[in-house]
Amino acid sequence: MSSGIPLINITDAAAGADSSKATPVEGLRAVLDNLDALVYVSDFETHELLYMNAYGHKIWGSFEGRKCWEVLQDNDSPCDFCTNHLLIDSEGAPSPPYVWEFQNTLDKHWYQCRDQAIPWTDGRLVRLEIATDITDRKEMELALQEAHEKARAAALEDDLTGLHNRRAFFELGNQLLKQSRRNRSALAIIMFDLDHFKQINDNHGHEAGDEVLRQIGQILASKVREADIAARIGGEEFAILLSEADVADASELAERLLGLMRETPVRFREAGILATASFGVSALRTEEQNLETLLARADEAMYESKALGRSRVRIKA
Ligand code: GH3
Ligand code: MG
Ligand code: MG
Repeated sequence: MSSGIPLINITDAAAGADSSKATPVEGLRAVLDNLDALVYVSDFETHELLYMNAYGHKIWGSFEGRKCWEVLQDNDSPCDFCTNHLLIDSEGAPSPPYVWEFQNTLDKHWYQCRDQAIPWTDGRLVRLEIATDITDRKEMELALQEAHEKARAAALEDDLTGLHNRRAFFELGNQLLKQSRRNRSALAIIMFDLDHFKQINDNHGHEAGDEVLRQIGQILASKVREADIAARIGGEEFAILLSEADVADASELAERLLGLMRETPVRFREAGILATASFGVSALRTEEQNLETLLARADEAMYESKALGRSRVRIKA
């Protein structure tokens, strides 16, 4: 490649009388044009394409006198992902080849690209890219990744309410707790258990009970902030972790939630079902190491609410 063979406007002048003997130029052309990969060369300064093999022609058309980003991409200026700056070191010498994957903006296929600076026929350094189509592999990878993400999300989500489930509550909650301890910021908890829920099921049916749980889930989701963790941690038990909140903030939110439950009957078929809950509120203590003890205190406070007649909020700081 460094022997000064002109790869542009190749002429067959060198072809001799014996047509079975290929000239080096013809041989190179045969190799490059039958390669199952894009090969192109462009100028570092002007981005002008100096060479593109038949694979490139077939997909992106002719290149003569045009810039790489005009031919190969759907751009009207150099690509913001251009790798040229990675191909030459601070002394102006070629760096090792740079290998990366990307999705072409024109044909939408995925390519693995191998980019490097090479000396061109006139001695200047130019950009050489060899790109192989990895769409099939990439699509499989992406589908697999999506399936993993879906499976993980499903494993952490409560089917009925769409809130976090118990497992997610502990997984995410422990992270939030660690973060709060690190930042020395407050963390509060609200726990509640629906009142006489068995009676709701008995009077209106299990489906009606489910609808109540769903609506409570919606109320919760609409009242918590992005950084909070709202979860259904048991059949008719819910918990919310509130970041940067103290017991006063938490009990204010608990009162608001209880107020909403009291004034929003759940419509199910002909019935309007009023469901209330008993709330327990607590907050992280300085010496506290885990979520279980925090939850246990909120649970104690919640049982006090039950004992005192239900549909109320109790605090255990
Ligand atoms: P309390 O005020 O003391 O909490 O009374 P309660 O009736 O709510 O308490 P109990 O623990 O006796 O009953 C809880 C009921 O919640 C029993 C169970 O069938 C019902 N339950 C649990 N999970 C679900 C669910 O996913 N859907 C429905 N519809 N009911 C559920
Ligand atoms: Mg219960
Ligand atoms: Mg209950």
